[in-house]
Amino acid sequence: MVDLIGQYQKIQSEIDKAVLDVMHSAAFINGPDVKGFQAELEKYLGAKHVIPCANGTDALQIAMMALDFQPGDEVITADFTYVATTEVIALLKLKPVLVDVNPETFTIDPKAIEAAITPKTKAIVPVHLFGQCADMDAIMDIAQRHHLYVLEDTAQAIGANYKLKSGEIKKAGTIGTVGCTSFFPSKNLGCYGDGGALYTNDDQLAKKIRMIANHGQSVQYYHDEIGVNSRLDSIQAAILRIKLRHLDEYAAARQYVADYYDKAFANHPKIVTPVRFPSSDHVFHQYTLVLKGADRNKLREYLAELEIPAMIYYPVPLHLQKAYRDPRYKEGSFPVTEWLCANVISLPIHTEMTDEVLKLITSKVLEFMKHN
Ligand SMILES: *Cc1c(COP(=O)(O)O)cnc(C)c1O
Repeated sequence: MVDLIGQYQKIQSEIDKAVLDVMHSAAFINGPDVKGFQAELEKYLGAKHVIPCANGTDALQIAMMALDFQPGDEVITADFTYVATTEVIALLKLKPVLVDVNPETFTIDPKAIEAAITPKTKAIVPVHLFGQCADMDAIMDIAQRHHLYVLEDTAQAIGANYKLKSGEIKKAGTIGTVGCTSFFPSKNLGCYGDGGALYTNDDQLAKKIRMIANHGQSVQYYHDEIGVNSRLDSIQAAILRIKLRHLDEYAAARQYVADYYDKAFANHPKIVTPVRFPSSDHVFHQYTLVLKGADRNKLREYLAELEIPAMIYYPVPLHLQKAYRDPRYKEGSFPVTEWLCANVISLPIHTEMTDEVLKLITSKVLEFMKHN
């Protein structure tokens, strides 16, 4: 699904030097590369504050801790996504309120958000799924009317531009109260281990986030809040500084792959290609098809025999996961998510794909569809 070795080889001399420099300096924790990366990411995003942390899941948890949510507070998020968002809500003893998604863009449905709001609602967590922003104009409008925080989960959409209805262009994760991202190796901006960050334009909130990520202290050994230990290693920061310079070129490579797939599958009666939401760039963390009247599991098996990987993101809706069973939800509660979970399939997409490989994959998918 990804080619991290091929990507590394192209920047190997730069990366190797940066990693060795950290080793020679022994500044493993909070070294100059962490501050350097922070400043460079702030500049790239146009965000006032970037706070690096240990991973994307921590970023979400720290954001919710910094906003002082209390047990029982309700947080609205999408049913069709990776588990991390709902997991941290539940871990903090908040109440996850799941809602359905838009069948075309796969992102949280603003109408469903509005219908789920109660006096206990504190926040909305849109997930910019597969590389494309949720409908942030509608979400910010709802949040303003109901005085809610917006935590953008931008783990899959770092670098995507969003054009607000005011005409202003902002980066994914810098529109709401706080943005949370991940530098997991396979993410669009991936390090060589775990990493994450929060972004915000709010000075007070940034200060609190920094404090919580550092054991609740702003002065060493004086703990004003219960915090966590969540840091980005200097080695990872050094790698990310180099890869950040390539991020736009990586997005363009992914978009090239997506365009190739789009063309190959255009107008196919059984294949729905990803819909581009007009307000958002799509940085294609995943390229996800919906099959209509063909079995995506069989397609996956067929491709696997040819050593072509394909993945199902995500096979089970959150409301039907064992750990998150809740009397409020049953089968049929979120029909769009349930339908997507049964019919989506993601094809390989990364920065190192050649036309030759794309031709092979598309021809094999089309060959399968001819007989199914
Ligand atoms: C990857 C991911 C996360 C979690 O990131 P980690 O760094 O693995 O903790 C959260 N949300 C979404 C949507 C993700 O894709």
